Amino acid sequence: MKLILITVLVAHFFWELFLSVRNDLFIKANDGRLDEVLPRALRDRISREDYRRAVEYSSAKTVFGLIQSALSLVLVIAVLEWTLLNPIDQWFVPLPLGRVGFLLAILLIVQIVGLPFDLYRTFVLEKRFGFNKTTPRVFLLDQCKSLFLSLLILTPLLWLLLLLYDVTGPTWWVWGFLLFSAFQFLMLILYPLVIAPLFNTFVPLEDAALLEGIRALTDRVKFPLKGVFVMDGSKRSGHSNAYFTGIGKSKRIVFFDTLVDKLTHSELLTVLAHELGHFKLNHVKLQLLISLGLSGVGFYALSRMLASDAFFAGLGYATPSIHVGIVLLMMLLSPVEMVIAPLFNLLSRRHEYAADAFALDATEDRGSLATALIKLNKDNLSVPLVHPLYSFVHHSHPPLAERLLALGQ
Ligand SMILES: [Zn+2]
Repeated sequence: MKLILITVLVAHFFWELFLSVRNDLFIKANDGRLDEVLPRALRDRISREDYRRAVEYSSAKTVFGLIQSALSLVLVIAVLEWTLLNPIDQWFVPLPLGRVGFLLAILLIVQIVGLPFDLYRTFVLEKRFGFNKTTPRVFLLDQCKSLFLSLLILTPLLWLLLLLYDVTGPTWWVWGFLLFSAFQFLMLILYPLVIAPLFNTFVPLEDAALLEGIRALTDRVKFPLKGVFVMDGSKRSGHSNAYFTGIGKSKRIVFFDTLVDKLTHSELLTVLAHELGHFKLNHVKLQLLISLGLSGVGFYALSRMLASDAFFAGLGYATPSIHVGIVLLMMLLSPVEMVIAPLFNLLSRRHEYAADAFALDATEDRGSLATALIKLNKDNLSVPLVHPLYSFVHHSHPPLAERLLALGQ
């Protein structure tokens, strides 16, 4: 059993390595023939210099990601090979709330192992390309706040889950899934109202002319939008973005301040129209349902694992136990993701095209949508054209060149 799982994990790593190297060679080779491969709208706007910088950033992130994956692979193999969960289990389980403690301890270990990578990404990699604005103080505060929040949220949630497991018998996974779904909905409401404001400041958009444009747009597409907020994304990073969040009354559009600074009013309106498109075309609901469905499958898989003494014995654990099962499931998730992520991304990319088309329809401003996309791409140092296989597996958004083609540019 161990050998099969380790083989699958190693195969997954080499698949990722292959994809990344393939993509890196592809984007470097395109450097010499940008005129051929880029759509006309991009040729004048993305210089060779811009392109090279984007390629450099992409390569640096790729190398960093591969080193991180390699180390986590080694760690997972070590845990599987030497049954390292056993000693932690034996230490925690006799304690009151021992199983919850075990899970939180594993979470803490994962956080600590990941810390050097977070530090490197923020203060070396992102800084090198001019994106990082995080100060050590903000970084430290972020770490403390996330840790505190995780403890606050996860302790009762895990406690309840384990309680359900103990009292509901073989159908526990259905109850577990229902609990998890209810928790997800609660988070959708609480995240924009309570959690996000702990990390960033959100101010209602004040620009009167822009608000006027927004009102006209939301009237036209019949979307009664209450909240348009500007977030101080520049506190941490120069990257710019916009997103849609919340449900019911907590529903809102958030613009990063970095985005508001860089885009014109008409460009911002096309970005907003794109986000509204995701909502009006039910993309938000559908993606939520799919992720809930997948978590249901996860709970069922966990219940099957727990029903199999042979599975646990094969991995060196004397008897099945839910807390060890949860950690094993998390460790073995990455190869499963290998299959699910491309499918999810396929759907997501279709949604992006549909939201672009919706935005075009709603604003009738093809030019601004195109320039907004180009600016976003350029300022975030995204490579405008990536290898098709890499994009197929990894990208939730189509590459810029393809998006512009779809817009008829
Ligand atoms: Zn989108």
